[in-house]
Amino acid sequence: MKEKVITQLGEIFERVNYSDDEKQKLQEIIKRHPMRIPEYYYDLIDFDNDQDPIRKLAIPSVLEASLFGEEDTSGEASNTKMLGLQHKYKQTALVLCTNNCFMYCRHCFRKRMVGYTQTEILERKDQAIEYIRNHKEVNNVLITGGDAFTMSNDLIEGYLKELCGMDHLDFIRFGTRSIVVKPDRIYDDLDLLRILNIYTKKKEIIIVTHFNHELELTEEAKKAIRALKKQGLIIRNQTVLLNGVNDNENTIARLFNGLVNAGVEPYYLFQCRPVKGGVHFQVPLSRGIDIVSKAREKLNGISKAFRFVMSHKRGKIEIFGKTDEAVIFKFHQNKYDEDANKIFMKTIDELAVWLDENLDYIKKSEI
Ligand code: SF4
Repeated sequence: MKEKVITQLGEIFERVNYSDDEKQKLQEIIKRHPMRIPEYYYDLIDFDNDQDPIRKLAIPSVLEASLFGEEDTSGEASNTKMLGLQHKYKQTALVLCTNNCFMYCRHCFRKRMVGYTQTEILERKDQAIEYIRNHKEVNNVLITGGDAFTMSNDLIEGYLKELCGMDHLDFIRFGTRSIVVKPDRIYDDLDLLRILNIYTKKKEIIIVTHFNHELELTEEAKKAIRALKKQGLIIRNQTVLLNGVNDNENTIARLFNGLVNAGVEPYYLFQCRPVKGGVHFQVPLSRGIDIVSKAREKLNGISKAFRFVMSHKRGKIEIFGKTDEAVIFKFHQNKYDEDANKIFMKTIDELAVWLDENLDYIKKSEI
């Protein structure tokens, strides 16, 4: 039986009381940033609670009408070597294999393309494979999008067949939120599990997923995690720190401890990017550090092994902590050689949410 997917606002309007003006704004918003919510995830929403985190992650908000922010916050266009293939860090090639996702998350930093336009999507898989084959400095590939597991199993196998044969690759990652928003894509698909099992014996395969709240860590999600781990895969999680969703230490601590308990490694906590249509989700950097510091007190060695980072045009910058006066940053990954391992400090500004290309603060009031 085909699962129901909620893509039209009519159903939402029956359950949430919006004014006519809000309804009109929301209709405009989903023309730019489509709505798509799988039935499984829709059923997790608490419609009696207007602060429900699941609701905020899945259902558009009129705040998305804001024109502040950027489309491409990490400079992805400048790292694009061919349509759908980015090469920003020497060792890592990133393949944007699809613009489809099982759900279109309201905070997504690729809002400019998911569910909407094919302009940055890989058109010719063979050319991308050839690029990776010829760049021996690349030791890992991240296949993402969109959601990599919206691809057919044949296509997933096609990538694995080629990439697992390349000696210079140490591991292959798939970026997918299917575990979180559509777990039966994994535990119900024995063919997918069979394919992953075969190729993880040839090359390390890592699933990179994206839980933002403990309410997403359901029994069904855990069933998908167990199914993947049974095949020998490693699962790592990236969370985005999101205003009104998970911006307190108890929520982060419960999520990260819960992930470890379920067999998933917390990997990165991302500062929310100043993406157009998503700036309302940003938490100021200084407050984010406080949340992370307090959360770490509730975490064990494994659950606190993550880094709090921002994916910046110049690289991945760790938001390391702060003294009484200053925030400490450290380049974890660098696009330019001169930034390698660079540590720098900036006077605390409670409104700062991001850094510009000169590493000067961008404040919440400026975006
Ligand atoms: S699954 Fe990932 S790429 Fe797709 S909308 Fe959500 S955050 Fe964006």
